[in-house]
Amino acid sequence: MPLDVLDNEDAQPARILLVDDDKRLLDSLNALLTAYGYQIDTADTGAAALDRLQRERYDVMLLDLHMPGMSGHEVMRQVIQRRIDITIVVVSGESSLADISYALRNGAYDYIKKPYVPEELIATINNAVRKRRLENYSRLMQSRLDRSENLHRFIVNNSPDLIYILDEEGNFSFVNRQVQTLLGYEPEELLGRHISTIIAPEDRERIRRILSLPAPLEGRRRAVNIAFNSRHPNQERRHFEVSMWPIADTEELYTVGKRYRTYGMARDITERVQAEAMISFQTYHDLLTQLPNRALFQDRLTMAINQAANGGQRPAVMFIDLARFKVVNDSLGHSVGDRLLQAVSERLAGCIGSGDTLSRFGGDEFNVLLADSRGLHHVQRVADNILANLRRPFYIDGHELHVDASIGVAIYPEGGETSEALIKNAGIAMYHAKTSGRSGLQIFEPEMNQTTNQRLLLEQELRRGLEQDQFEIYYQPQLDSMTEQLVGLEALIRWKHPTLGQVSPAVFIPVAEHSRLILELDRRTLRRACREIAALHRQGWQRLLLSVNLSPLLVRSENFVEDVLNTLQEEGFPPDCLELEITENLLLSDHPDVVKKLQRLNDAGVRLAIDDFGTGYSSLSYLQKFPISTLKIDRSFIHSIANSNEACIVNAIVAMAHGLKLRVVAEGVERAAQLDYLRAVRCPVVQGFLFAPPRPLAELTARYGPQMVWPAKLDA
Ligand code: C2E
Ligand code: MG
Ligand code: MG
Repeated sequence: MPLDVLDNEDAQPARILLVDDDKRLLDSLNALLTAYGYQIDTADTGAAALDRLQRERYDVMLLDLHMPGMSGHEVMRQVIQRRIDITIVVVSGESSLADISYALRNGAYDYIKKPYVPEELIATINNAVRKRRLENYSRLMQSRLDRSENLHRFIVNNSPDLIYILDEEGNFSFVNRQVQTLLGYEPEELLGRHISTIIAPEDRERIRRILSLPAPLEGRRRAVNIAFNSRHPNQERRHFEVSMWPIADTEELYTVGKRYRTYGMARDITERVQAEAMISFQTYHDLLTQLPNRALFQDRLTMAINQAANGGQRPAVMFIDLARFKVVNDSLGHSVGDRLLQAVSERLAGCIGSGDTLSRFGGDEFNVLLADSRGLHHVQRVADNILANLRRPFYIDGHELHVDASIGVAIYPEGGETSEALIKNAGIAMYHAKTSGRSGLQIFEPEMNQTTNQRLLLEQELRRGLEQDQFEIYYQPQLDSMTEQLVGLEALIRWKHPTLGQVSPAVFIPVAEHSRLILELDRRTLRRACREIAALHRQGWQRLLLSVNLSPLLVRSENFVEDVLNTLQEEGFPPDCLELEITENLLLSDHPDVVKKLQRLNDAGVRLAIDDFGTGYSSLSYLQKFPISTLKIDRSFIHSIANSNEACIVNAIVAMAHGLKLRVVAEGVERAAQLDYLRAVRCPVVQGFLFAPPRPLAELTARYGPQMVWPAKLDA
């Protein structure tokens, strides 16, 4: 191939400089060589030759050694000194061999003797030209090679990836500069050392195994994610995606047991790995407390259950609900609340075993998986320990905070055979612990299930209902049994749930009492009813009586009397137009405190009625102890008026009430026959569907015009 280049017809003709003091010789040589296609210039002194060489480029110089003035030797010296690139063929006439060999040693390529033999001359010149062109070509190639190697070196060293070559033993034979930036090693210090020296301990064994595997199929790479040691501060691990290719010929590669060199490229994926780890941590942990979340808890629980099904262990789920956390959160702010939760989680963590799992499900609910409950004794001990620890005060931001907890426990398998069932039942048991009034521990029993499920749901809905004020008041008229004139209105709460529709008080009142939400509900109802009826008083229904139902919980609550009296005052409602309906059971079960409260209300003019009279423990003694104004005969007695025996009871109650100077109201009057009977026994006030069901106030005022109703028609 190089020769093709040399012989190429298109190549420029070689340029030759002829130097001789014999002008005739110069002319004849010029003619001869021009005929052979060379491009000729001539010089007849050494100085003229140097002058030309300085200005032009020649391939070959034919140089006479013996010239007057500057000799050929001197010209050669100058050529070397001036670094002129040219191939020199010296010409000598009578000169000695020593002369020639001196010239050859000092840079001449060949020599020719005078007189010239044309063929010899041409052959020598041709050779010189060819040699020159070869040299030029190889120099060109060399510089191209140098450039391409530099380019590759540049690419390799400036690659963002780590690039290396390992020898058959796995030692570095090359590694690019990037290793400095990425890991803090100098490439030179790694040469000859095994790759595992820069690999994180946990991955060293793996890299050795990978390097000893048979080569992947031709053209294929092997890709693995590997952690490297880094010398950079604060990041002793960096993660790389490493691609490896074998370097060897096919035969070597597939010879069993034959080691091969590898070329590798490692891409830094630390950020991705850390982001993934972060995401998976977030997926499985509660960020505030760093505790496992519900998903992870459930995973571990499922594992524990599977093991329990084989072995004899009995995992248990503890559901811990903090009391008073909400108060802290609402009054001191979320940041204190958050720190309290963190402190609580630390104390809880100290109360459980290493095989157990503590988890936060959100809010102030924590769960513990006891990998093996080892019987009730152990559960009780753990729970006692937790309660004791939580009851020690917490000091946060200069506040001394007290929390308490209710703990429910469900034990596998009686407490549930799946993770969901165990968690749910532990929650139900917790709810029972909480609503029993005392904080403490409650073990799940299957009977708890039915009631509690719906109750929990309904309780949540009730809270929301209160927040969003989904309640309104209906009123049911109480009428004079003889004239059927309006004497009073009983306020009855109604819940319009956005999706459940109208929820009956019979359903939600017990739940509201269980959760104590009834306190808020009744306070609001009382205030609103007073406001609405006070407005009615002003519109002409003077002294219309308002009956409001109150939960025993409200009566027992602190400041009950003050609350009621304040409400009356604020709403401008006359106390003697208010009748509070309470149940027999409140009076029965109660201590002197309630007597005093009711007495104070009565002193202020407020009337008290016993609702559903006859259904509780009808000990008549309380009728004397408490300042009661009215008895409301339960509607079950009114319903059975057709039956003569029961009718006797209604008769007896009315008679007794007359004797005690109490007003009597018959509830649930639905049929005319019932009204007739009640009139006959002189029951003064009636209430029931026969006259009107509970309705919104506006409907009732449209039906019963303004009238002055009290006191004339109230008392029998
Ligand atoms: P209650 O105080 O005995 O109220 C009378 C209940 O009997 C009302 O049921 C009323 O709609 C119903 N009723 C009225 N006339 C008839 C009739 O002729 N036939 C029949 N079968 N029923 C009649 P409601 O409104 O469902 O209330 C149920 C109970 O919920 C009330 O019984 C009361 O104990 C309680 N309640 C209602 N509102 C409140 C409230 O604001 N606070 C409290 N603590 N309890 C309330
Ligand atoms: Mg009532
Ligand atoms: Mg009643």
